[in-house]
Amino acid sequence: MTSGEKALKDLHERMLNCRRCLEAGYDITPKAIFSGKYGAKIMVIGQAPGVTEVEVGRPFNAGSGKRLFQWLESAGFDESSFRSKQYMTSVTKCFPGKAENGSGDRVPSRNEQALCRPFLNEEINLINPLMIIPIGRLAINLFFPSNLPLWKIIGTESWADHRPIIPFPHPSGASRWHQVEKNRIKIEKSIQLIRNCLDQIPFETNLLSLD
Ligand code: SF4
Repeated sequence: MTSGEKALKDLHERMLNCRRCLEAGYDITPKAIFSGKYGAKIMVIGQAPGVTEVEVGRPFNAGSGKRLFQWLESAGFDESSFRSKQYMTSVTKCFPGKAENGSGDRVPSRNEQALCRPFLNEEINLINPLMIIPIGRLAINLFFPSNLPLWKIIGTESWADHRPIIPFPHPSGASRWHQVEKNRIKIEKSIQLIRNCLDQIPFETNLLSLD
């Protein structure tokens, strides 16, 4: 095992054993949900896992995963290959419970985001991805101005630490944003941006050809 693999394994163990939010009084459901190995070239960052992700133990399961992988497949990725080769995580890594108003899952508070942020920073540093795909407002706010409306962000790319950041909206069925026709055009632009980035990557590091 290389030192990088060892460091990632250690990080994963700390994430799985973490109870910081519970200890701070938040009614979350441990354990942390994420997937991916050392050497991944793309990192997907979602908001937080949902209840079906906890049941199955993998990110972006069920409806939101189905929609996300429709978008990623349009960009050229096969779901099983993507899941096995790339890295998937979230802003907060434990299920935050349902929203009080009954519409979808509770959005993790700023304090929970801050408690979990060191883990995300470590993941980004260790994986050092060639591309980051933030999914949904919470993850998008890590890389784009939070005062910009989603329609001005989806379909554009930003750069951070010499890597492209290409956002998607939250693919959950509880969100209507991605169901609006004019917004679908923005999602198509994001898909095209991902394809363009893949085309520009030299053959030896082509993301689609990596084992
Ligand atoms: S959400 Fe993050 S900080 Fe909070 S308990 Fe889970 S792993 Fe720990």
